[in-house]
Amino acid sequence: MHILALPAFRDNYIWMIHDTRSAVVVDPGDADVVLAACAEGGVQPQGLQLAGILVTHHHPDHTGGVAALLRHLPVPVWGPLAEDIPGVSQRVADGDEVVLQAPELRLRVIEVPGHTLGHVAYHAQSERLLLCGDTLFSAGCGRLFEGTPAQMLHSLQRLAALPPDTQVLCAHEYTLSNLQFARHVEADNAATESYQAWCEQRRGQRLPTLPSTIGRELQVNPFLRSDQAAIRAKLEQHCGRPPADGVEAFAMLRQWKNDF
Ligand code: ZN
Ligand code: FE
Repeated sequence: MHILALPAFRDNYIWMIHDTRSAVVVDPGDADVVLAACAEGGVQPQGLQLAGILVTHHHPDHTGGVAALLRHLPVPVWGPLAEDIPGVSQRVADGDEVVLQAPELRLRVIEVPGHTLGHVAYHAQSERLLLCGDTLFSAGCGRLFEGTPAQMLHSLQRLAALPPDTQVLCAHEYTLSNLQFARHVEADNAATESYQAWCEQRRGQRLPTLPSTIGRELQVNPFLRSDQAAIRAKLEQHCGRPPADGVEAFAMLRQWKNDF
């Protein structure tokens, strides 16, 4: 299986998974990017055949290309049951399985409310892949546009519980800016320091910092570490009082990041 991060807009990635003949794409905000990748990739001269589209949530930078792709080719489009997204033909909820013949792929749906209320992630257990949209970013997490801190924390905890070698395919290249905040709230974290150096090198060569892994995120992502003593102490210093519980610690951290 081949995994491509197709850059779109300013900092989006449209993930493409293909077997050199057939491809699925995730969150195609821009159809032209996908069509160009299909034409250039795979077994020539046919290129890649688009076989399906997966959508994680309703925001336009993740759905804007769906209609144009469907005009090109009527393929199945999977998307969250709880959101009304034009073009979605297969509405999925927690625990559902998405089964693709080509490329051969089985994905389990995980509902991850927080960034939006209906947001879903797709987990391919045998390929060790997580398509998490705008929920988990490398060294960060999505903004809470619709959900509560308790919902987002629970969603992130479910993703964090996946096997550590799971590759994390996030929808945005936010890693370096997230790391500035991560370094600020957890200055003594050696893993974050060396990861930042590696990410700077990657971005210097215009290469993606993604995919990350669950194992790495557990080491560097403050939003998966808001229960750590060092972060709680920083939160107390910043907010003038200690967080009452885990949800409040996460809420304080998310608010701090918004203002950072
Ligand atoms: Zn979004
Ligand atoms: Fe987005």
